[in-house]
Amino acid sequence: MANAEIIAVGSELLTADKIDTNSLWLTDQLNSLGVEVRRKLVVGDDRRLLAESIRQALRDADIVILTGGLGPTEDDVTREATSEALGRNLVFRQDLLDALIERFQRLNRNMAENNRRQTFLIEGAEPLPNDRGTAAGQWIDADGKVILLLPGPPNELKAMFSGQCVPKLRAKLPTQVIRTRFYRVAGMGESDLDQLISPVYKPYENPVTTILAGAGDIQIHLRAHGETEPEAEALLAAVGSPIEELLGDRIYSRDGANLETVIGGLLRARGASLSVAESCSGGLLGGRITSVPGSSDYYLGGFLVYSDAMKTQLLGVDPALLQKHTSVSEEAAKAMATSARDRTGSTYALSVTGEAGPRSQSGVPVGTVIIGFAGPAGAPEAATYRLFGDRNGVRARAAQWALDYLRRKLQASRSF
Ligand code: ATP
Repeated sequence: MANAEIIAVGSELLTADKIDTNSLWLTDQLNSLGVEVRRKLVVGDDRRLLAESIRQALRDADIVILTGGLGPTEDDVTREATSEALGRNLVFRQDLLDALIERFQRLNRNMAENNRRQTFLIEGAEPLPNDRGTAAGQWIDADGKVILLLPGPPNELKAMFSGQCVPKLRAKLPTQVIRTRFYRVAGMGESDLDQLISPVYKPYENPVTTILAGAGDIQIHLRAHGETEPEAEALLAAVGSPIEELLGDRIYSRDGANLETVIGGLLRARGASLSVAESCSGGLLGGRITSVPGSSDYYLGGFLVYSDAMKTQLLGVDPALLQKHTSVSEEAAKAMATSARDRTGSTYALSVTGEAGPRSQSGVPVGTVIIGFAGPAGAPEAATYRLFGDRNGVRARAAQWALDYLRRKLQASRSF
């Protein structure tokens, strides 16, 4: 499999204000061509350092892509550094100058003398015309490797790469079929998950497995490449099927959908509705539910009841119950969910109460979160969790755990 290295050029990319997004986009494009990106670099406008970086990239990679530094000014050093690294001269191209002059005339602007710098190509390079800017790109074949010089502005880079480089790369690269699987997992930490599934995926370089973890939300990407579709599918299945078996119903989505979208689908399929009563999550749960377009089909609304007084005034939770058990108790969570369901007339209700920290107000340890659940039949339920993280982490996980609680309930039984 071909591999690539991307070098983003520009001192501004080394400041705290600007990030290199071009390489993210390019990585996605290259992966779709069956090319693995092995390394990315950001190099300032330093010709010597850049030439050295290009030399090193050429030792390891089949394809080296540089973005940026093709402008007209002295600090645009990509052409000179590439010329130095390859030991090839820069040669003047009349056709590039004609095109530049024509561009400036069309825009009714004067061409500055230093724009002439942009009319030089590495010896043997093929120009890649840029109809969105002044910097022509360059395609260079060198000892079986390909070096691409592309402009820095993302819109110029994208048009040039998609329109001109992808067809050429596709013709050059061996036929590769890429197949992917994508799982989202809730209700477990990243290290627990990795411990469980790493014996399955570690022995394989193909498919490539990547794991991305958010607050109680883990994404597992598998990307297999093969010469044929069945070959790529078989490789995916070799890793994906045992992972599915190990994780079971902790996998909540296979198409990238987030938890709130999955829940929306489940509620809609049942013609059911939902309401919430939130204490420590302070609206995060309702916020996530309503972030899904069309959530008004099933979401009736919620109660933000942070203080005990509000739990009583808005939801009618018995003050004696709060007095006896405190608001961070399974009894309080059940009463909140029951009352939210009854007051809104929803099919289901969720409640969240807990201690997000940093100091415990109620006496229970920081990170304690209780999810309450009330369905159309049966007694209300509650479950207590000890969640990890700082205040924001606990609050985010509380919303995630509540959504996952509901998902499991909905998936476990159709009789609610
Ligand atoms: P030109 O000078 O003709 O605009 P160039 O190829 O010299 O093109 P740069 O001067 O390096 O490109 O960058 C131009 C602008 O493009 C930068 O100010 C920045 O906004 C954006 N840019 C450059 N590189 C990147 C990158 N890797 N990721 C995201 N944006 C970038």
